[in-house]
Amino acid sequence: MIPFNTPPYTGDEIEYIKQSVFTHKISGDGKFTKLCTEWLEKRFGAKKLLLTTSCTSALDMASILSGFSAGDEVILPSFTFSSTATSMILGNASLVFCDIRPDTMNIDENKIEAAITRHTRAIVAVHYAGVSCEMDTILDIARRYNLIVIEDAAQGVMSSYKGRSLGTIGDFGCYSFHETKNYSMGEGGAILVNNDAYMERAEILREKGTNRSKFFRGEVDKYTWVDFGDSYLPSDINAAYLYAQLMHADEIYNDRMTTYNAYLEALRPIADRGLIDLQYIPEYCVHNAHMFYIKLKDLDERTRFISHMKENGVCSVFHYVPLHSAPAGRKYGRFSGIDEFTTSESDRLVRLPMYYGLTPEDRDHVIDAALKYFRER
Ligand SMILES: *Cc1c(COP(=O)(O)O)cnc(C)c1O
Repeated sequence: MIPFNTPPYTGDEIEYIKQSVFTHKISGDGKFTKLCTEWLEKRFGAKKLLLTTSCTSALDMASILSGFSAGDEVILPSFTFSSTATSMILGNASLVFCDIRPDTMNIDENKIEAAITRHTRAIVAVHYAGVSCEMDTILDIARRYNLIVIEDAAQGVMSSYKGRSLGTIGDFGCYSFHETKNYSMGEGGAILVNNDAYMERAEILREKGTNRSKFFRGEVDKYTWVDFGDSYLPSDINAAYLYAQLMHADEIYNDRMTTYNAYLEALRPIADRGLIDLQYIPEYCVHNAHMFYIKLKDLDERTRFISHMKENGVCSVFHYVPLHSAPAGRKYGRFSGIDEFTTSESDRLVRLPMYYGLTPEDRDHVIDAALKYFRER
């Protein structure tokens, strides 16, 4: 059975982990955390990036730093992972779900304004499949209504919008380095703080409420408890794993892109026959081949396709069940306007195996299995 995903491994991870262990510095903010942070900031042109224990904890930090209070509302898509929503609840906000665009599966920037009330405080832009939301429109709305913009760029590492790296565009950006993402440290993530107003508080929040970071930079002569905080530092052992991945960032990117392009070329004739819809990449976006999905006619056909693929030794999977229809979504949020595309489009979507190191043989096997399905239609 060809798996849907396997964690990325380049070969240098063990060596770096060994170095981390033998320098006897395995807690947070050690050598490898610094190396990863410097690399990421430089590569993506980020003002300030802090490694965290997950993208969820990065979103938690963004939510806490935003300073919501009870009754405040955050606008987000319903077609996303639970973390996007649950982090906003942690910060005391209530959720207002906005419909998505059928072409990119991202929040529909033209439906955001209708979801704004006098309680709205923030917009969360989720860059699904590493394909950017229409950020200029979102930033313009945020400016006019004085809203915070949080980018859930969990899937968007190495993607860009009009030349700007995803995660560096809003007030906050959040990355995931979970094993299912393009670059991994097992469990881990990062918060990008792009708005100067939150930088100092971000360090304090991440370091149990202390000004430890300032102390290590020699900016204060005592290290003390200054504010509310939590613990969001990943172990340097995890950062060592990530560093190996970052040193092979382009190789991983190219490998995934080769798979993506092979799928695309093989399935385009099926799309031309009108049997499926392919992923749409707007011209303002450079994506990162995080995912390859197709959209079938409806839920029934998707179910048939997934079992056909399984019978042919391929694990293909659907994705999010819209949050507004989940028990917690009903409790904590409401859908703004009508659900024109969120449910119907998510019902059609299926993802093909995509990971670093997927062999050309396995990839061609996936393609053959998919083509066979459509030949039999
Ligand atoms: C993976 C993912 C997350 C959560 O990332 P973790 O690092 O596992 O916490 C959040 N949002 C989106 C859109 C994701 O794809």
